[in-house]
Amino acid sequence: MTWSTCAPAEQIGFGVYVHVPFCRHKCDYCAFATFTDKAHIVSQYLLALRTEIERAAPSPAAAAVFVGGGTPSHVSPHELVHALDAIARHDDAEFTIECNPDDVTVELLQVYRSIGVNRVSLGMQSSSPHVLATLGRTHSPDNVVRAVDAIAATGFTTFNLDVMYGGAGESLDDWAATVQQVVALGAPHVSAYGLTVEAGTALADQPARHPNDDDQADKYDIVDDILGAAGYVNYEISNWAKPGHECRLNAIYWSGGNYAGFGSAAHAHVDGRRSWNVRTPDRFIELIEAGRPAESSFEVLDAATRKLERLQLQLRTRDGVPLDALDPSDVADMGELVRLVKSSTNGDRLVLTRAGRLLANEVSLRLRV
Ligand code: SF4
Repeated sequence: MTWSTCAPAEQIGFGVYVHVPFCRHKCDYCAFATFTDKAHIVSQYLLALRTEIERAAPSPAAAAVFVGGGTPSHVSPHELVHALDAIARHDDAEFTIECNPDDVTVELLQVYRSIGVNRVSLGMQSSSPHVLATLGRTHSPDNVVRAVDAIAATGFTTFNLDVMYGGAGESLDDWAATVQQVVALGAPHVSAYGLTVEAGTALADQPARHPNDDDQADKYDIVDDILGAAGYVNYEISNWAKPGHECRLNAIYWSGGNYAGFGSAAHAHVDGRRSWNVRTPDRFIELIEAGRPAESSFEVLDAATRKLERLQLQLRTRDGVPLDALDPSDVADMGELVRLVKSSTNGDRLVLTRAGRLLANEVSLRLRV
C-alpha cells in the first residue's frame, strides 16, 4: 500500500519504534546509542523492555512497528520476540526488524515470523569488500546474498536493503555495482544514504577519509538513475520503493504522526509532546526495575513549530509541500529546484526536483507557516 504524507496523520496510524542497543562491533561512522561491551545485560534488558511495553498499555494498536538499533539480530531471537509480542498491534501492521546479514538464517526469521514480523531491513551498505572495510563493517558481501535467499525461503514478501555511498576509496563504478546488486537481489525497498561524519566517531578523527560533496552528488545521480530505470520510485530523498512497498513507519514520521518509543535512547511523539528515554541500557534497566519510567526528558511543540516541522519533512517526500508554503519570489529564485504538481486531491504542491533533492536543506530554510 502507498501512504501519502498529505493524509491526516491519524489515518496513517500509530507507530512504534523499539531500540535494541547492542552491536558486535562499532562501525567507524556510527554515532547511534549502541554498545559492544554489554553482552552480560542483554537478557535483563529484553525483560525490562517487555516491562516498559506492558506498562504503556493500553496504548493505541500500532499500524507499524520498527525494531532497530543497534543490531536486533545480534540478540537471542526468542528473548527478543518475547519482549516484542507485548506490543499492541493491528493484524495487518507493518512489522520490521533490522538485521545484520551475518546473522540471518531461515531459523532466525521463522522465530520472528512467529509473532507476525513481516519485513526485514538488512544493513548491506556496499557490495565491495574494500568499501565495507573502509566503513568499518565486518559482514561479508556473500552473506547479503545468503540473507536475501533466507528472506525469500521464509516467505517474506518485502524487505529493505540499506546502502551507503561516499566511503573512502569507493569509485563511481564500485557504487554503481552496489546499486546494480540491490536490483539483482530484488529488494522491494532501498534506503541509500551518503556517509556523514558525526562527532565522536572513529571517522571524525580521520579527515583523509571524509566524504566529498561532489563525489556524493554524482553517486546520488547514479543510484537515482539505476533504481529509476529498474522501476523504483524515489518517495523520499534517500528512499526508493517498488510501488506498494513504501515503508509505513516512514509515512507516520513524515506526516507528524504519533509514535511510541521503547528501550534506551528511543524517542516518542504524541500530539506535539516529544520525549526520549535515557541513553544507556544500564540506566534503562535500573529505572524500569525500580518501577520508574525510563523517560529522560521531553519538550512540547507549539502549533507553529509542529506545522513547520511537518512541512520540512514533507518537502523531502514526493508529496512535496503546499504551494503557499513558499513565498512566490523564493519559488522564482529557486528555478529548477522545485516543480509545481497539480493534484485533484491535494491541491497545488511544490515538489523537489532531483537537483532540489541535493539542496533540500537550503529550500527548507525558506519554508513558512
Ligand atoms: S551495525 Fe549499525 S548500529 Fe551497530 S555500530 Fe554499525 S552502524 Fe552502528
